[in-house]
Amino acid sequence: MKDRCDINRLIIVLGDQLDYKRFLPDDYDQSNDIIWMAEAEEESTNVFSNKHRIVYFISSMRHFRNHLSERKLPFIYHDLENNESGKSLGDLLKRDLEKYRPSEIRLVKPGDHRVEKVLKEVSYKKGIKLDLVDDPHFICREKEFQQYAEGRKSLRLEFFYRDLRRKHGFLMDGKNPVGGEWNFDKENRQSFGKSGPSSPPTDRGVTPDKITREVIKVVNRRFPDHPGNLDLFCWPVTPVDAEKELDRFILDALPLYGRFQDAMWMGEPTLYHSLTAAPLNLRLLDPRLALKKAEEAFQANHAPIAAVEGFIRQILGWREYVRGIYNLHMPKYRSLNSLGAEQSLPKFFWSGKTDMACMQSCLTQVLETGYGHHIQRLMVIGLYAQTSGIRPDEINDWFLASYVDAVDWVTTPNVIGMSQFADGGLMASKPYCATGAYINRMSNYCKGCRYDPKQSSGEHACPFTSLYWSFLDKHRESLGSNPRMSMQMRNLQRMDNEKLKQIIKAKDSHLARTES
Ligand code: SF4
Repeated sequence: MKDRCDINRLIIVLGDQLDYKRFLPDDYDQSNDIIWMAEAEEESTNVFSNKHRIVYFISSMRHFRNHLSERKLPFIYHDLENNESGKSLGDLLKRDLEKYRPSEIRLVKPGDHRVEKVLKEVSYKKGIKLDLVDDPHFICREKEFQQYAEGRKSLRLEFFYRDLRRKHGFLMDGKNPVGGEWNFDKENRQSFGKSGPSSPPTDRGVTPDKITREVIKVVNRRFPDHPGNLDLFCWPVTPVDAEKELDRFILDALPLYGRFQDAMWMGEPTLYHSLTAAPLNLRLLDPRLALKKAEEAFQANHAPIAAVEGFIRQILGWREYVRGIYNLHMPKYRSLNSLGAEQSLPKFFWSGKTDMACMQSCLTQVLETGYGHHIQRLMVIGLYAQTSGIRPDEINDWFLASYVDAVDWVTTPNVIGMSQFADGGLMASKPYCATGAYINRMSNYCKGCRYDPKQSSGEHACPFTSLYWSFLDKHRESLGSNPRMSMQMRNLQRMDNEKLKQIIKAKDSHLARTES
């Protein structure tokens, strides 16, 4: 261990900054710089984190620590089990600044505004200069997004995505998009029909190694009451495993990914989706590599344009876009609540114990795997939260705690903006709201459910359906002027008053049965 007078610069590497290729600054000086990492307990308790998420971060960090050792790079690493002088990142950093007195701290912009604020405050109070640098993992620089956003009233994904395609040459044929269209979403909305998915790939994930098995024991011991069951933990915790997972997805799942990306099926959590969001968000996987390999699959006629474009849009478009929104609008974005939602989060979100088969299936899956694909998040869990009026900050915290790929920069815009419409339309042009008929069309959840997706009132009324009509009724005024809601609002206006009363009664009785 170096002593205080040897250290020039403390290079902080956070748990979601494990970019093996880019973590060292260009002017890194091995004799005077030291890398600093900490497994701070507060990062698992700040939101009531799923055990999968805790294991994923800590095991990935410990593998990264081994990489530092193998490269013989000097580092300070705080192990969760030995944090004698503080449980928060701020406390641990403060102690080390007092101990080593570096002349400077180098920090890549954190993906969580709360963490950035704490680390800035600690360095300021200790009088040590903080060099905050833009994250080289992302394709769009922070300033570039700011320039894009300047003067625009609404920030839709589509035009931003097209700009990035042009600029970086993904799926381009000269100045035009390959296939003649920028977006093939209309081909990507099929359900499985009654017969279900035909043999989705089963060989997914990674068998936990010795380090991960040890972390699983630690997490079960230290966080016994946290949600989640680690029996099925299989997330890739190194760049090598992350790339293998990417290759497996491209080989076995990408050809059908687009067509069935909105479909759901009981007992089939991953279907044709990739498991790359988690390693991407911890920087174990380079988005450029994922984009390149997906495009190569199209060029080799292995996967159709609609599937490849859909995947590329998620990574080059959506991922970069939500990060831009986050950096532009935090911290106020997190507390937006344009629809005035005031219900508390029901307890069953943490246990999966509900008689709604779709919610039960999606929530149990998250507890068992830390995973859910985007339609399960948006059109089942998010939809329920929105139409039942759960407070956006509470559902946002639940999403942040529950998914293995969750980091604040990605979760907050997805939940506050896209899923809950709590930003009043900055991101989405209308709320994503639907009845149980949508879930029935896109899945087999309703088949064994005690409710009937077609019923909006009465004993078997589907809560999604009664919540949907009640939601439209409640927001008649504010949503009535939105041209994209006009058809839904016309249907509401055609509804008989007595029928609407019965629906609201069914909604009230459902919410009364739901314990907060
Ligand atoms: Fe979900 Fe309603 Fe279908 Fe039951 S009937 S699974 S609650 S959508």
